[in-house]
Amino acid sequence: MVNALVLFLCMSNKEIAKLLENVATAYTIKNEKKFRFQIIAYLKASETIAELNGELSEYYKEEKLDQLPGIGPTIQSHLIELFKKKKVKHFTWVLKGIPKSIFVLTDIPSFGPKKAFKLVSFFKLNNPKTVIDELEKVAKRGKIANLEGFGEKSQQDILRAIAEFREGKGKTTRMVLPYAFEIAQKVMDYLKQEKTIERVEALGSLRRRVSTIGDIDFAVATKNPKKVIEHFTNYPYKERIIEKGEVSASILISGGRQIDLLIQPLESFGSLLQHFTGSKNHNVHLREYALKKGLSLSEYGIKNLKSKSKSLQKYSSEEDFYKALSLQWITPELREDQGEIETAVKNKLPKLVELTDIKGDFHIHSNFPIEPSHDLGKDSMEEMLEKARQLNYEYLGFSEHNPSTSKHTSKEIYDLLKKRDEKIEQFKSVNKYVRIFKLLEVDILPSGDLAIDNKSLELLDAAIISIHSVFTMGKDEMTQRVLKGLSHKKAKILAHPTGRLLNDRYGYDLDFEKVFEFCKKHNKALEINSWPQRLDLPDTIIKQAVENNVNLVIDSDSHAVSQMELQKYGVFMARRGWATKNDILNTMSYNEIIDWFND
Ligand SMILES: [Zn+2]
Ligand SMILES: [Zn+2]
Repeated sequence: MVNALVLFLCMSNKEIAKLLENVATAYTIKNEKKFRFQIIAYLKASETIAELNGELSEYYKEEKLDQLPGIGPTIQSHLIELFKKKKVKHFTWVLKGIPKSIFVLTDIPSFGPKKAFKLVSFFKLNNPKTVIDELEKVAKRGKIANLEGFGEKSQQDILRAIAEFREGKGKTTRMVLPYAFEIAQKVMDYLKQEKTIERVEALGSLRRRVSTIGDIDFAVATKNPKKVIEHFTNYPYKERIIEKGEVSASILISGGRQIDLLIQPLESFGSLLQHFTGSKNHNVHLREYALKKGLSLSEYGIKNLKSKSKSLQKYSSEEDFYKALSLQWITPELREDQGEIETAVKNKLPKLVELTDIKGDFHIHSNFPIEPSHDLGKDSMEEMLEKARQLNYEYLGFSEHNPSTSKHTSKEIYDLLKKRDEKIEQFKSVNKYVRIFKLLEVDILPSGDLAIDNKSLELLDAAIISIHSVFTMGKDEMTQRVLKGLSHKKAKILAHPTGRLLNDRYGYDLDFEKVFEFCKKHNKALEINSWPQRLDLPDTIIKQAVENNVNLVIDSDSHAVSQMELQKYGVFMARRGWATKNDILNTMSYNEIIDWFND
């Protein structure tokens, strides 16, 4: 079973580029002046490799390293040594004495070698696994501001950079989950055409439904690896084959995304799945837990270290793998080392919410000509109601943006809403399948007032309120703004509460402790918005909301019929935040929702 390993031992362009960058970082820390030419050479080589079309290992095999622009003979010879021996004497010498945690920090945008070195040595942050968390802690305690050459502002910048880095805004961007999910679905459908495939599953962050994804990996169970590899590497949308082994292969698809395939026989498929689903933190914790029982875990199975033979027990299913460790099976969404192992020991894992629990959607933009402040939907109310029927929804809430306040008087706004009312009433009389709520997505003005007046708001069953302007307010001011908006009796749901856009903007800061308290006291709900680039609330905040018994709703924020199916991504986020059916209000019946709106 060498091949699965080979795939992971063979360094990718990204990893090699990072290694060369680390060498430049080490030179900079040691003596920037003395090594200035080396620093430039290594950074240039690193950049060339990161942007290379094709695998560096191929260039090596074909003895074409000298054809690469920006890589001189010295670095070429080091690369040859790297491919031959998996390490380079010279690199080891340069990197000696530099804490590894520095190279973790230099991955965060705005962290240069010197800044990273200064922080790591002053606060003694020598553990690469915890350096980011530790740094965040000292920044939150206000300790960086006092450091020479830093200050209050750079302390805030560091906190923001860490937060953004965690969201995937590293030096390479990741795909948002819905995009990766669609690519994976296509590949999966294609793989299933090969009849010798017994099982196929996505691995890694995709299987855990993380909001952003790097590479896409699959595990396959089959008796005929050769046939499967042949089929996989013939994927019609591939750009080229990166590697084709006996039980593993990698291809590049259009758009530059890499897809890896790992194969094992069905009898050890469960162990393979468990091992490569991660997260790293979950697996590290699981291994420690197993070792205490005298068990050693790997992608091939479990070894009992206490038994004489130390023979390997294989597992075809993950359920059996976890069972062998006396644990409840842990759904992939929970595998983040956030207490799931401790909870599984006690057999107390929650029954998480499922897509089929969802009875409706409150956040729908139709094309009704309401002359809104922001974008209008693309499809008609009829079409969206028909889709709701297909989705087996009990109810649907129309929540177009409020009519533009700069272009209309209060009276005109009222009249527009009145017209929409009449249209909705018509539907109510003929549409027997799906009940309708008269909602509206209303802007919260910087003052905290809602964008339309009470007379117009009275026409609604409830208002979904949201921030669409002036994001730059400080945390306290923004929290006041949101709470003032939510205190209106018609305001029931706070839409996309952090305002983040994945790979784009961080959003605004809110004091969630205060927001939670307010929502609980006044029976308001926070939205989990399923829009691909939002996925807002983020899973970590959902978990806190659930722990604080705050009500949540899952909405698609659809502007077209096809988008109504995005709800599944909101459900994934909810599950990652440990939410059960009881935490999500749109699992309730129509009458229960009416009661909540009137509360
Ligand atoms: Zn919005
Ligand atoms: Zn919206």
